[in-house]
Amino acid sequence: MKKQLTTRQENFAQWYLDVIAAADLAEHSGVKGSMIIKPYGFALWERIKEELDSRIKATGHKNAYFPLLIPESFLKREKDHVQGFSPELAVVTHAGGQKLDEPLVVRPTSETIIYDTYSRWIESYRDLPLLINQWANVVRWELRPRLFLRTTEFLWQEGHTAHATEEDAQQEVLKMLGVYKELAEDILAMPVYDGEKSETERFAGAKRTYTIEAMMQDGKALQAGTSHNLGQGFSKAFDVQFTDADGERKHVWLTSWGVSTRMIGGLIMTHSDDSGLVLPPKIAPTQVVVIPIWKDDTEKESVMKAVEQLKSQLDIRLEVDDRDFQSPGYKFNEWEKKGVPIRVELGPRDVQSQQLVLVRRDTSEKETVKLSVAATRIKQLLEDIQIDLAKKAKENRDQNTFMVENYDEFKQKVEQGFVRVFWCGEAKCEERIKADTKATVRCLPFDKQLIQEDGRCISCGKQGKSEALFARSY
Ligand SMILES: [Zn+2]
Repeated sequence: MKKQLTTRQENFAQWYLDVIAAADLAEHSGVKGSMIIKPYGFALWERIKEELDSRIKATGHKNAYFPLLIPESFLKREKDHVQGFSPELAVVTHAGGQKLDEPLVVRPTSETIIYDTYSRWIESYRDLPLLINQWANVVRWELRPRLFLRTTEFLWQEGHTAHATEEDAQQEVLKMLGVYKELAEDILAMPVYDGEKSETERFAGAKRTYTIEAMMQDGKALQAGTSHNLGQGFSKAFDVQFTDADGERKHVWLTSWGVSTRMIGGLIMTHSDDSGLVLPPKIAPTQVVVIPIWKDDTEKESVMKAVEQLKSQLDIRLEVDDRDFQSPGYKFNEWEKKGVPIRVELGPRDVQSQQLVLVRRDTSEKETVKLSVAATRIKQLLEDIQIDLAKKAKENRDQNTFMVENYDEFKQKVEQGFVRVFWCGEAKCEERIKADTKATVRCLPFDKQLIQEDGRCISCGKQGKSEALFARSY
């Protein structure tokens, strides 16, 4: 049980799987690529969901639910969309013991079925904007699955909105990208670059795709959330029209945006260490674990009294591990692997001297604190840990973001993280770079940092149209 984890240095991919196993987050099922999310892993997803759902609602959206099965003909209506998703589709051809007249697709995403519905829901400009979100599972057949990062079935939210004007739709797309950035940075302590995707990396059927990209500890980027301006492609394919104030019939402007359980993979690879999971306090399902220590019933009584008193002073997610069949040492180890930000140790001698011991998960720092000020100190420490983890992750990201002089240097640096360069915008340069280095355009960042005059494409040397962030990615 006390088996050591593979270190990040030894084998990052194996370390990642070891962290998941040691923290008891998830496991593989009998169906290749399908993942069983265990209670602690699901608690983490529920925390992400709570934080995101409240922000989705605060920005005026309502939750609804649409069917899992979609008529195959729906998928075919928007040609880029079907082309993009065809290789990943799972299709139901038989049901109820009979061959179906029309095959049904298990949703890989819900644009088609939702916009078919919108064609009936939207009549006039008064019905707009229509702001809907759904929490659901989707299926995309994965050939190279990895827990949380790429699974055949995964959980996510998908927002789908309809607007009267292109400007409104574009505003919505950027607003929701901002919500994702806030979730990533303020709650998960995971710094991201936000920007637009290149044409080849765009969502199938989108006019423009925006993304937030995080940097993992092994120098690879992780796409953590996307937001799409769908233009009028889908509204024309599904005949979603409205009568405008001027009496004219017009097609709506659509957007979609999503964040999935892959966020958990990003969280793991941003903060965890060779001892296991490390969680920022704002997202941790358990922020503080109290481990009471006693030998007999008299000791137990006095220790538990002090624990109860501490508990009553704290309005946080606190757990008391009073299992009497496990030793304190075993519990320390177990909670360390689960990444709980603060461990409280409290034994009979501590009660006598009216104190307790606090241990930080991220730094292993120990401190002895008087019981009278323990609650205040714990609250402060939770804030400090959140800030420190965010700072550390940002330092890692910044240290692994490079500017380079030439293509040779580019090839070398892109092994280590993001490289910020000018790019001519041509797909063939993107392809060449990918073939040479496995790196892709992660985004054309909003925040430009290169000097405009030096704008030459890193690959072909032509005048560079846009500043791009390249990286290898998950
Ligand atoms: Zn070029």
